[in-house]
Amino acid sequence: MASYVDAHCHVTTSTKTNANPISLSDLPVVRCVMSNNSYDWQKIKNLKDSDPRTKVGFGVHPWYSHLYYIADQGHPPSKDAHYRSVLQCSDTSELEQIICRLPEPVSLSDYIHTEFEIASCDCIGEIGLDKLFRLPENGFYQGDDHAPLSRVKVSVEHQAQIFIQMCRLATIHSLPVSIHSVKCPSLVFDLCQEHLLPHSNVNVCLHSFTGSLETLTGVWLKKFPHERLFLSLSSYINFKNLDSAAKLVQALPPHCILAETDFTWDTADDDTIIRELDFVLSQIALHQKLQSKQEAKELIYTNYQRFIL
Ligand SMILES: [Zn+2]
Repeated sequence: MASYVDAHCHVTTSTKTNANPISLSDLPVVRCVMSNNSYDWQKIKNLKDSDPRTKVGFGVHPWYSHLYYIADQGHPPSKDAHYRSVLQCSDTSELEQIICRLPEPVSLSDYIHTEFEIASCDCIGEIGLDKLFRLPENGFYQGDDHAPLSRVKVSVEHQAQIFIQMCRLATIHSLPVSIHSVKCPSLVFDLCQEHLLPHSNVNVCLHSFTGSLETLTGVWLKKFPHERLFLSLSSYINFKNLDSAAKLVQALPPHCILAETDFTWDTADDDTIIRELDFVLSQIALHQKLQSKQEAKELIYTNYQRFIL
C-alpha cells in the first residue's frame, strides 16, 4: 500500500556539539531528509541504513554557500579574504561584524572528499540559488539561535559556483537533485540545462517551486524530459495562495508531482506533518481531477519511487 511521501524535509541546523545522530519520528511516511550544511549533515549522515523509510540528501544550501570556498591551485584564502570576496554589503562595518562571527570557511572539495560517501547518500540536496535572502546577524541560519536579518548578501556568482560543483557530484554518481530556486529562474535553468540535462540518469526536483507558470511550462516542461522532472509541493509555500496553487497543479503532468513539508522533522510534531501532507494530497486530487485523496497518495508514492531509487 502506498505510504505518505515527504520528498523534501530537514533536521535543525545547530552548532551545538550534542548534535548526535537523531532518530526520526515513526510516522508511516517515506521521506528524503536534506542536508544544507556541515552541521545538519552530522545528524543525518548515518540515517540511511537506520530505517527503510528514510532517504538522505547531501547538499550545500545557498543560505550556507558562503561557509565554503572553491579551492583553486594556490593556497586556501584567509578567512577575511574569502568572506570579503563572496559577501556583499554597502555598509562596511556591518560586513565586518558578520565576518567576525562567521567560522573559518571550509574547502568545498575537502568537505565532499571527507564527508560524501555514495553508500550513505540517495540524493544531492538541498542545493540551488537564491537572490532574495540576507544573512542573519549571527552569520547563518540556525534553528536554535535566531538573529535579526542583516543587509549582507552572498553573491550569486559564488552561489552558482557551489551549485555547479554539487551538480557535478550528482552526475558523477547518478544521483537525483533537489533544488531551491528563488528569484533567479533563468540562471537556475541555464545551469541545470548545462550541467544536468545531458546526464540522462540524473532526476531533477524543483522543491517548493515559486517561479512563474511561464517558466514552468515554457522552459522546464519544454526542455526537460518529463520523466526526469519533478516538482515537490509544500503546503506552506505552494498553497499559500490557493488560486495560483490550483493553476500550478493543473499545469503539471501527473507523473511530475511530489509532495513535501520542508519541515525540520526533529522539531515538527507528527500531527502537523500528516496534516500538511494530507492537505497537499487533497489539493492534488482536486486539481488533477483524481477520484480521491487515496489516488493522489498512490500517484505521489509511485512518482517518488521513480525520483529516488
Ligand atoms: Zn528545504
